[in-house]
Amino acid sequence: MGHVTSDASHKFIFYVKLLVEMPYDAPMKRVTRFAPSPTGHLHMGHAYSAMLAWSHAVESDGHFILRLEDIDQSRCLPEFEDRIMEDLSWLGLSWDMPVRRQSEHMEDYAAILERLYSRDLLYPCFCTRKEIRAEVAQSNSAPHGPHGPVYPGTCKHMSVSDRDNKFSDETPYALRLDMERALTGINLENLTFLERGKGHIQCDPASFGDVVLARKDTPTSYHLAVTLDDALQGVNLVVRGQDLFEATHIHRLLQHLLDLSTPEYLHHGLVSDMKGRRLSKRDKDATIRSLRENGYSLEEVKKLSGFGK
Ligand SMILES: [Zn+2]
Repeated sequence: MGHVTSDASHKFIFYVKLLVEMPYDAPMKRVTRFAPSPTGHLHMGHAYSAMLAWSHAVESDGHFILRLEDIDQSRCLPEFEDRIMEDLSWLGLSWDMPVRRQSEHMEDYAAILERLYSRDLLYPCFCTRKEIRAEVAQSNSAPHGPHGPVYPGTCKHMSVSDRDNKFSDETPYALRLDMERALTGINLENLTFLERGKGHIQCDPASFGDVVLARKDTPTSYHLAVTLDDALQGVNLVVRGQDLFEATHIHRLLQHLLDLSTPEYLHHGLVSDMKGRRLSKRDKDATIRSLRENGYSLEEVKKLSGFGK
């Protein structure tokens, strides 16, 4: 009998262990981010976006990240970084340290450009804006995507010797994604992203044409840097304005090409067109700083941004 008891207690311990180790349906911890460019003071739209992203992190016991998108070094100023952090602190937000400055990670962007280049997915484009405009105007069949004129592909078929001449002349160039090659072999039905409240969105990156992934003046681009950073920083819910919804088609393609994780997305309405809220132009353009200095309380600023109840 003693033998049987011991067997039963073993079984009991086994089931208790199973119960303790069984994953329960905990809500996913959200890693969200606010990623302004330090080119000016934060305004109401920024306040709304930051507070929304922050609240999703806090409510899920996750993390909130502040990222400074300062690749355009000619327009970014360190003093605006300080002002941004002051404003966010005033709004009651706190974020993980250290803060990632994109300008400090150019080698990360260079590495993934190299990967794409070695797979023949990029080509140098020496065109000036003026040349592209002229080319588009001249060509009757120039494709016109939903996002404006599509690059007509002038440099895509440049001969190797012409290209080498341009390189040796040190003609500045951008790097464009060869969209046709990039999409080769991809089943577009599987290229989707999850938009909060809307479900799975099917991507149509081809309508953007050969987008620039590295600019002439800086060896990366918004699309490239933001996609890599979100993946490197473990962001699993991207909260940003509706104006960036379309860009997500490109970001999703880059995630696929570079084997990066795909976060969920939440593109929120912009403060200027928020339903049921009539902001005067003055309110809309008001910076958090100017409101603070004019004696607005935190509650008033929240309300004005559309975040407060
Ligand atoms: Zn070109």
